[in-house]
Amino acid sequence: MKIGLEVHVALPTDSKLFCSCKAYSEEPNSSICPICMGLPGSKPMLNEKALMLGVSIAKALGCKVPEKISFSRKVYFYPDLPKSYQITQVDAPVGHSGTLEADGVSIGIRRIQLEEDPAKIIREEEYTLLDFNRSGVPLVEIVTEPDIKSEAILRAFLTELKSILYYLGVDINKEFKADLNISVAEQRVEIKNITGTKNIIDAAKYEIERQNKLVSANQKVPSETRSYNEAKMITVPSREKESDEEYGFIYDPDLSEYSTASIKAKKAVFASRIAKEYASKYKANAQTLAELVLFNRDALEMIERWKEKYEMKALIGSIELLEKYGIMDINERAMARLLDMVSKGSYPDKETLMKIYGGEEVEAKQIDIKLIDKEISEYIKRNPRIVEEYRKNPKAINFMVGEITKKYKVHPRIISERLNLIFAGK
Ligand SMILES: [Zn+2]
Repeated sequence: MKIGLEVHVALPTDSKLFCSCKAYSEEPNSSICPICMGLPGSKPMLNEKALMLGVSIAKALGCKVPEKISFSRKVYFYPDLPKSYQITQVDAPVGHSGTLEADGVSIGIRRIQLEEDPAKIIREEEYTLLDFNRSGVPLVEIVTEPDIKSEAILRAFLTELKSILYYLGVDINKEFKADLNISVAEQRVEIKNITGTKNIIDAAKYEIERQNKLVSANQKVPSETRSYNEAKMITVPSREKESDEEYGFIYDPDLSEYSTASIKAKKAVFASRIAKEYASKYKANAQTLAELVLFNRDALEMIERWKEKYEMKALIGSIELLEKYGIMDINERAMARLLDMVSKGSYPDKETLMKIYGGEEVEAKQIDIKLIDKEISEYIKRNPRIVEEYRKNPKAINFMVGEITKKYKVHPRIISERLNLIFAGK
């Protein structure tokens, strides 16, 4: 099985890719000019920040960055594109031939290109509206090789990619779209325009199963373009769009070549690598640490700041707690007090936490593990089915963990750890 991806994300720039209009604006058609509306005679000028971000992403993904990059026109007619072409990159994109490690598997990055978003089409029953605010918003397209061989690797790849983009300042919650190429047998099926990580994974899951069924029944998988129906969670054949060979691509003479030599790329942060390294160096759970820092710059900074000074497990527990209550600017003394409590197994509620934050002395009591074990045993006696349920789905204990956390103000992870021991019969 082979899966390849084309991911599109919007770049965090104030202005659009080829003009000085604001990249985001609420009121429809309020942030437009002759350039982003594609009026005849208007001349695009490249946004240098978008170029810098494109190069930064390319470098973070280990791509080669050409000394000179250029732009092309992808010619097609559609109402969202009045100038009848989209400006994109073909011959010399910002990056090519890179790799990204996901769960120990190396995924090839074929190319990374800058391009403009077309206008937004709003279809009503009797008419269609066009909003040109989106026209010209800078996008980056990341095209992988078909190196992804399972749903698990697809998930790992998306997490890894999003974390790198997050630390480069990209708002990954704003726009994250992908086209998927999946071939279980020889024929390649393309699923166009899927929005959001969950849908991308669900679409892949469905499509792999659908193709496997056809192959098991000795049927041929037709090579086609499909789309994902989010409500039904299925893929369906869609109108054939032109393939790349059918588009007319021509060099864009309005935009000259641009040198990448003097571009200062943003430094990439590989949070998952850092999490793995620290988990082994400071003896903590790699998964928990990764979950905390992959998409949280403040948390990573706190880990960096205090990793040598405090025990990592208590540090993670304390930061999780601060995050839960939205406190990310705690001072050293208050942090030391909180860590003392958490390392003794205590899990302060919001009121206690605010006291600590405000500099008050709060007594840290050692949690009585025997009492917790007794509480858990009694809960299991009252709800014997929970052991079975937990083995099927570890989340089944969440309610019980919540109850005991509240009652004893003990850290939920301590309860989870005790439960694991109890359920394992130790
Ligand atoms: Zn404009």
